[in-house]
Amino acid sequence: MATSSSITLPSGLKIDQPTSLFYNASFHLPLDPTSTFPTVNPATGKEIVTLNEAKKEDVDLIVQAARKAYESDEWQDLSSTDRGKLLFKLADLVEEDKHIFAELESYDAGKTVASAILDVEEAIGVIRYYAGWADKIVGESHRMGPDKHGETLHEPLGVCAAILPFNYPLALACWKLAPALACGNVIVVLPSPETPLSVLYLAPYFEKAGFPASVYNVLPGKGMEAGAALSSHLDVDKISFTGSTATGRKIMEASAKSNLKSVTLELGGKSPAIVFDDAELDQAVKWTCLYGMFLNQSQVCSSTTRIYVQDGIYDAFVAAFKEATLSSIIVGSPNDESTFHGPLISKAQHTKVLDFIETGKKEGAKVLVGGEGAKEGEEGFYVQPTVFVDCEPEMTLMNEEIFGPVCCIAKFSTIEEVLRKANDTQYGLAAAVFTENIRTAHRMVRKLNAGMVFVNSSGDASLQLPFGGNKSSGFGRELGSYALHCYTQPKAVHWNLNQRV
Ligand code: NAD
Repeated sequence: MATSSSITLPSGLKIDQPTSLFYNASFHLPLDPTSTFPTVNPATGKEIVTLNEAKKEDVDLIVQAARKAYESDEWQDLSSTDRGKLLFKLADLVEEDKHIFAELESYDAGKTVASAILDVEEAIGVIRYYAGWADKIVGESHRMGPDKHGETLHEPLGVCAAILPFNYPLALACWKLAPALACGNVIVVLPSPETPLSVLYLAPYFEKAGFPASVYNVLPGKGMEAGAALSSHLDVDKISFTGSTATGRKIMEASAKSNLKSVTLELGGKSPAIVFDDAELDQAVKWTCLYGMFLNQSQVCSSTTRIYVQDGIYDAFVAAFKEATLSSIIVGSPNDESTFHGPLISKAQHTKVLDFIETGKKEGAKVLVGGEGAKEGEEGFYVQPTVFVDCEPEMTLMNEEIFGPVCCIAKFSTIEEVLRKANDTQYGLAAAVFTENIRTAHRMVRKLNAGMVFVNSSGDASLQLPFGGNKSSGFGRELGSYALHCYTQPKAVHWNLNQRV
């Protein structure tokens, strides 16, 4: 059996797609090569390629290889500046093939090619950002008097595992691998079984950039088997997980029951956007509709899917939001330049989202736009962008993360009322506030229980600012200098210079 397969991308470009495990600088079949799973094109529902599935025993082998790489002199003795240079080289190499990565990502994840290019640019940007950090990771120095000196060393953790969701495969892999490697760790990546291709395709670029073998390792596999094996592995030092809250809980439990490995959890959300009467209407509508709600087929953890609009502007906002949805959120093939909204990731997600829409109707929410799946005979996992209005707090739609194009708009009167409603959720990932009044904005920023607050924008992210949530949206932060804390541990050093006992 081969470890790669030739696939033809929608543009006609043929590539050699790796389909197997990557460690010790090459691709390997799993111990049981008969165990396989397919990845599917969400736009057609048809299989793209079959992958070899890593099982628990394969996880053991890959972790062993990663441990050896971590302890090797080649990696341990590399200067921090040289680690940064390797990451800069990696970014340059990925940039040369940016369009291949983008097309592959679009094919596997159902996102438009235009948005996939932005994702790949983000991946390149984040690699460069942490390449720059590699030789600036410093501890503290304490002048404690003539007899003692104290210092802290910020040391790598060792073997880190990244477990990824399906929605931003390459970009989120780089959010994790770039800071992990900049800090001197090695990494094992488990991509989502729904979107494994770009992360596997990336593997040989580490070779070309000059990284030692097994600093970067990838295993195609399933969460219940390979993910669970990584989470409970005694020789894995860290799990950096992005995915649902339910899976996050399992990973915490596996860590607690095994070696208490460090865990960072970036989980789900049900984030509010709050539009006050004095907001700039046109901007509030564009940000909440295009970026806060329907970006990436509405499969974004920080989407602001509960929109609270103050009563004085409510009718005008609803009318403008309807117009923006109908005119801008064009549903279609990811390869069509006019498409804004492609298919959802899978048949299961398609069914789940349509069920939520039916529940919303039954519970009395009013459909303003959409409310349907694909038309009869259409292939692919398409759902019409759907907007419900006059939503009430107790409705299922207002409480559950849907991860699909279902938006809920509700009315409010006072700042106290909207703060209570906005914070009344198990999640705390993001929140958006639209107002021209700096005092209102400032009060909201302080009172909203969320890891990220957008003032007069939504769906925003910057490499320099931390990304992550409060409450059941997880803990730990990615991006910015904050991610460095997730991949290092401080060592306190007590220098006794002249204390005699
Ligand atoms: P998911 O939880 O179903 O799967 C995520 C990953 O976990 C997959 O790679 C899967 O194989 C693995 N997994 C499944 N069971 C496992 C187990 N028992 N042990 C270890 N690993 C296991 O999530 P998904 O459907 O891929 O992604 C959607 C979810 O991710 C949404 O809830 C979304 O909000 C969240 N998300 C959060 C962020 C963030 O930064 N907070 C970003 C993107 C997505």
